[in-house]
Amino acid sequence: MSSVYEKYGLKQVINASGRMTILGVSTPAAGVVESVNTGLNHYFEMKDLVNKTGAYIARLLGTEDAVVVSCASAGVAQSVAAVIVQDNDWLLENLHAAPLTVPHEIVLPRGHNVNFGAPVGTMVALGGGRLVEAGYANECSPGQLAAAITPQTAAILYIKSHHCVQKSHLSVEQAAKVARQHKVPLIVDAAAEEDLQCYYQYGADLVIYSGAKAIEGPTSGLVVGRQPYVNWVKRQSGGIGRAMKAGKESILGLTWAIENYLTQAKVTGAQMVEKMTPFIDSLNTLDGVQGRVVWDSAGRDIARSEIHFDEATIGLTTSELVGRLRDGDIAIYFRGYKANEGIVEVDVRSVSAEQLAIIYRRIRTLLQGEKTA
Ligand SMILES: *Cc1c(COP(=O)(O)O)cnc(C)c1O
Repeated sequence: MSSVYEKYGLKQVINASGRMTILGVSTPAAGVVESVNTGLNHYFEMKDLVNKTGAYIARLLGTEDAVVVSCASAGVAQSVAAVIVQDNDWLLENLHAAPLTVPHEIVLPRGHNVNFGAPVGTMVALGGGRLVEAGYANECSPGQLAAAITPQTAAILYIKSHHCVQKSHLSVEQAAKVARQHKVPLIVDAAAEEDLQCYYQYGADLVIYSGAKAIEGPTSGLVVGRQPYVNWVKRQSGGIGRAMKAGKESILGLTWAIENYLTQAKVTGAQMVEKMTPFIDSLNTLDGVQGRVVWDSAGRDIARSEIHFDEATIGLTTSELVGRLRDGDIAIYFRGYKANEGIVEVDVRSVSAEQLAIIYRRIRTLLQGEKTA
């Protein structure tokens, strides 16, 4: 493996930041790799593969249907195109060729108009939609969402994510109710979420997941939902979907990963605590450094190590320290969004005990170097 790093001059990475696209998201289980390999080594009737793996996933999740796509962003773009084009053959091939006379406005709570690494609005535009914001940056009630719906509305889009404004914004259930009352479909982008069933059960017509995030599949995406919406998404393979084609290897890899995700025992928070305890104990022997266990703020069974740096004692700002760890021979990435408060978080799920020891030694060396300097 290290030969890839040598051959192309790449940096090794210790990912203590969680599921990050900029670091390659996740490292799937051996069964996923095997399924990808099987896919690469055989031919299939692709339509059959798409339909039957979709039906298999739908049975596992209790949804009407499902389809594997190339990534969650592609899932959003194709879902938008699906509700605009529906089963119109001419529009399928001419989505961008003429001004749209069919409904093509996509209503989104204003606090959901986020940049997840690329803007949500870009994906809506790729699918031929025109974004219409409902409510305000700090509030969107069911009434405010409903007020933005017009005869030109093709769907409501709800982004379920920590990226979004949570304060005074309606829930998925409430958005589903508004959608039903106004007879427009509801699309939910749940790319990084862990529950593969609840948003469908709350009444969404299409729900989109990223394949490599919580599910830990290959680079891919998943769209689950009701008919005819899922069929309309599948039809996009003859339209914009062709520019975001999902290969046989990702289809088989993700299908295996979903089944594994549903059946395998999850690593518990207690197990995470066990793994990080020696790391925290050794951090606490360093001057100006305090480590402790913190629990996920969204209430999930995830424990992380929080490291607090006393900047006066260590003679560095936390941002400088984080920068140096990232710029070392092995790039170490933390969850650094509280760095301005002197705090970083270590997500241990993608980090081995050995790598935790490396992180500790790098911090120790950096701080000692700083003191003797
Ligand atoms: C990660 C993410 C995406 C994009 O997922 P990809 O599979 O990388 O395209 C879209 N929406 C949200 C809310 C995300 O967190």
